[in-house]
Amino acid sequence: MKRIAIDMDDVLADITTRLIEITNERRNTNYQKEQLKDPVIFHEYYEEYKQIRACLYEKGMFRHLPVFEGAQEVVKKLQEHYEVFIVSAATEFPQSLTEKLEWLEEHFPTIGWQHTVFCGHKHMIKADYLIDDHEKNLVKFEGTPLLFDAPHNYHLEGYQRVYSWKEVEGLLLPQ
Ligand SMILES: [Mg+2]
Repeated sequence: MKRIAIDMDDVLADITTRLIEITNERRNTNYQKEQLKDPVIFHEYYEEYKQIRACLYEKGMFRHLPVFEGAQEVVKKLQEHYEVFIVSAATEFPQSLTEKLEWLEEHFPTIGWQHTVFCGHKHMIKADYLIDDHEKNLVKFEGTPLLFDAPHNYHLEGYQRVYSWKEVEGLLLPQ
């Protein structure tokens, strides 16, 4: 059975939407996720975001994030054909560990702690596929990297980019 490693933030959990909400609340701005496809607006937003980034260490931050459309159904189907691991660079945010486990239990109950990996670097992860939104995680990956589209990675080239879980389904599951 081939193995797939799946990132959490901005792949399963829509943390960008939550961070935009927090930015708008605390910086008195009015950004919408769609606008961030524009590099000029993205850079403006990113300057504001840096001012609120410390919220990533706040209690509750990772517990109530929205789930990406289609993620639950597709991950479940993937488990019928692959060994699926959730791999999250979570140790940077120690308070997130319990919240992420609870979040996974709520939204992806078929994963379980046995297939959940919380780490720092991901370059020691061995799998056939890694679905992730950050180049730092994909660049040293020895299997097939799949870049999950996000506003902060619009400029990246040279990776196979997936825009949705529907697309992951089409790519990795028999039709
Ligand atoms: Mg991520």
